[in-house]
Amino acid sequence: MKIEEIYQCYLQCTSVNTDTRKIENNSLFIALKGENFDANTFAEEAINKGALFVIIDDKKYYTDKNKMILVSNSLQTLQELAKYHRQQLGLPIIALTGSNGKTTTKELINVVLSKKYNTKATVGNLNNHIGVPLTLLSFNEDTDIGIVEMGANHQKEIELLCSITEPDFGYITNFGKAHLEGFGGIEGVIKAKSELYHYLEENKKMAFINLDDEIQNEKTTQITRYSFSHKAKSDVKIDSVTANPMVIINYNKVEIQSHLIGLYNTNNINAAIAIGKYFNISDNDIKEAIENYIPTNNRSQLIEKNSNHIILDAYNANPSSMSAAISNFIQLEGKEKIAILGDMFELGKESLTEHKRIIELLINKHKIETYFVGKDFYSNKLDHKNIHFFETYESFSESFKTKRPSKKTILIKGSRGMSLERTLEIL
Ligand code: ATP
Ligand code: MG
Repeated sequence: MKIEEIYQCYLQCTSVNTDTRKIENNSLFIALKGENFDANTFAEEAINKGALFVIIDDKKYYTDKNKMILVSNSLQTLQELAKYHRQQLGLPIIALTGSNGKTTTKELINVVLSKKYNTKATVGNLNNHIGVPLTLLSFNEDTDIGIVEMGANHQKEIELLCSITEPDFGYITNFGKAHLEGFGGIEGVIKAKSELYHYLEENKKMAFINLDDEIQNEKTTQITRYSFSHKAKSDVKIDSVTANPMVIINYNKVEIQSHLIGLYNTNNINAAIAIGKYFNISDNDIKEAIENYIPTNNRSQLIEKNSNHIILDAYNANPSSMSAAISNFIQLEGKEKIAILGDMFELGKESLTEHKRIIELLINKHKIETYFVGKDFYSNKLDHKNIHFFETYESFSESFKTKRPSKKTILIKGSRGMSLERTLEIL
């Protein structure tokens, strides 16, 4: 069946999904094959649960010629369908990628632009070769602007996502040390993320850039761009930035008091301001939208518990976000501090060295009692006052739960797989 015909089926459906647990009445179910599952086996069940059409790529399960659409590769069909839909709608789309801060920036841009437009953005972190097409398929005729988060852990992934999304605008949050394993070092990260710039350049689209980031500046000289900067002349000039611990930004005589912790969030906010200005959102609306945005999902949350101030940033971690969080924590004023830091995953052969670098950031920081949790930190174990190492979360929590700290400022950060938010239960 041609994509145009499949599209007609899609138009009759009220939603699209790839997860058998979430099938809704009148939905389009797309059966994907994963490493450990093959959703083709659920094709009939999907119809029984109310799916209007089911796309499958295994003849064995083709039992209903009215409701089943047999294709050669369901994933490819999902991507083609998303691209076709995007072209039919023809709405402006902003694509975001980068090593850190994509979701935060996406959410900030979304709250700012939704002051004036009907926006649709990536839900949660659905940012890969499946999530991006699903995001595009969630856009409809009422959507004025789409905001799409693109994640990648290897080369050519952003290129593929751009070819599906056909963004009109792009922003790269930063080039940092994340997923080094798949990218082959920092040079690989820059190359991979820059695939977004290549798309924008080739297709004469526009880049939003942070002019203070040398790599962004260098890589976009051939692209139409709209910039923000703290230092240089730019479309949006940021006058001052402070954080203690919440970020406060001044621009154009507007003061924005955010609920985001950590100086590393300033560029995320600045990007939302710049994009807001570009799309003619008033300063007042930009201010209100950012001030009312409260992060959730363990992303830089400030929690008060038993007289402790806890900076919970346990959603994920990599060397750049970890160093950013630590330098922010070090410069926080105040009482005694505790850092509970978990392993950073997916760093490949550079993992032990990167963990060692993080440990070094905390040596001789006498006001900070540090607990390193996880195998790679543990492999770099050293004897130092105020620094403790635990190979597993269990051994850490066994020891830490007897401490009952009070009136402390506590930073909790680690990779998703470490689930350090569990620490809240013993604080
Ligand atoms: P993912 O790869 O999981 O999709 P992401 O890029 O969407 O991550 P966020 O979820 O917004 O990033 O933020 C994750 C963490 O990264 C934050 O909790 C914070 O510690 C750190 N972080 C956020 N923004 C930046 C930034 N601009 N520079 C460095 N670190 C940042
Ligand atoms: Mg994200």
